[in-house]
Amino acid sequence: MIHFDNSYARLPKGFFARIDPTPVSDARLVALNTDLAERLGLEVDWLRGPEGVAMLAGNALPDGAEPIAQAYAGHQFGGFVPQLGDGRAVLLGEVVAPDGARFDIQLKGSGKTPFSRMGDGRAWLGPVLREYVVSEFMAAMGVPTTRALAAVTTGETVWRETALPGALLTRVAASHIRVGTFQYFAVRGREDALAALTEHVVARHYPDASCPLDMLDKVVERQAETIARWMALGFIHGVMNTDNMAVSGETIDYGPCAFMDAYHPDTVFSSIDQMGRYAWAQQPQVAVWNLAQLATCLIPLMGEREAAIKAATRSVHRFAPLYQSAWLRRFGEKLGLRDAGENIQPLVERLLTIMARQRADFTRVFCGLCDDSARDEFADPTKFDEWAEDWRSFCPDDEVMAKANPLRIPRNHRVEQAIASAVADDLTPFERLFDAVTHPHEGRPEWSDLAAPPRPEEMVRQTFCGT
Ligand code: AMP
Ligand code: MG
Repeated sequence: MIHFDNSYARLPKGFFARIDPTPVSDARLVALNTDLAERLGLEVDWLRGPEGVAMLAGNALPDGAEPIAQAYAGHQFGGFVPQLGDGRAVLLGEVVAPDGARFDIQLKGSGKTPFSRMGDGRAWLGPVLREYVVSEFMAAMGVPTTRALAAVTTGETVWRETALPGALLTRVAASHIRVGTFQYFAVRGREDALAALTEHVVARHYPDASCPLDMLDKVVERQAETIARWMALGFIHGVMNTDNMAVSGETIDYGPCAFMDAYHPDTVFSSIDQMGRYAWAQQPQVAVWNLAQLATCLIPLMGEREAAIKAATRSVHRFAPLYQSAWLRRFGEKLGLRDAGENIQPLVERLLTIMARQRADFTRVFCGLCDDSARDEFADPTKFDEWAEDWRSFCPDDEVMAKANPLRIPRNHRVEQAIASAVADDLTPFERLFDAVTHPHEGRPEWSDLAAPPRPEEMVRQTFCGT
């Protein structure tokens, strides 16, 4: 039993298409996030039971659900597409958690919708498990993100060059409203809808904002914080299109995302990102570009045009200093230096340069600072040793460092291995990986293999959307 309160479905016509999920033949629960279920005030036993699983698979609609596919547009790799929308997902509805926070409950992989275009509306088990484990690791590290409530298999085959097991992810988010949602109405000249959407976003995410410009300021602030947190974990989103940027500031749409093993700022994994547009070091600039698209959509709501353009531009330009200080805070903490400020910037940059030259492992260098094993990550530690002497003169705090640096990340090769086993009906590696990365600071010896970088033959060089 779930109490839905569907505020998005109360928005005017044109925001969404009313569409039920397509039932599947043999729904089986693969993973259930009991911590998250409790956070949302949902009954774990009910979710695990036949009625719960039927809902998670799209086979039964609980009372109060009003499934909709949300409309949005978006710039994909810089090219504008006026109509995208939920092509393989439906928003079942919204729940209000015991603490008053409102969450979307979305089924991803739930069948065709009016926005499916050529797609089959389905997902296969691989990307479902990838999003499940990666988004929950991000949450465990305090990164604003959508969450994973459950994964089910469908008993049906999905074709992606080869036959693969179908699956659904139940995704939980503060909302699924994207920069592309604003673009959808802006390109259609629908000022009434833009105003309604803005009002909805303000009420939901930024209740202190008193006008569209205020809201934009706050989205810029949240994104600066989120992207700085990605950078501090070596996370590469992979598809930072405007339809994959949430106005809540949450990380959304984990597709060909990946964490770096060996550090280099130009690292890209996504098979479709051939120009490196969304490489690790590009992400802050791309965020600015995306936010400028949001700003452009809001200008018609901001009064006299010339003044509105100036104000919107100023708002977007605030990203750089906000990001810079968030980045310093995050990397400062990684070095055990809290509230250090600009004076440590050269120290951080020097370390990153040494790491890049030797392709040192991003995660292991930082967590190795806590126990003096970082130097082992360098084939030639001379430069690192010089750096470490300077660093120690700042008196790093071990506790700050331990909290900021995960011992384990969902390394690509481990994610791929977990998916391959799950496809072969063995969920043990997935469950173990999930447990280990959602307790990223617990140094259990039985998890030490999960902290190791890939051997050459295990290395994953490319990731795929593959949904
Ligand atoms: P994304 O990869 O999340 O950025 O998706 C881009 C667009 O393609 C969105 O509108 C998705 O809904 C749509 N899409 C992706 N995969 C499928 C699929 N299998 N069936 C239908 N639409 C899809
Ligand atoms: Mg998307």
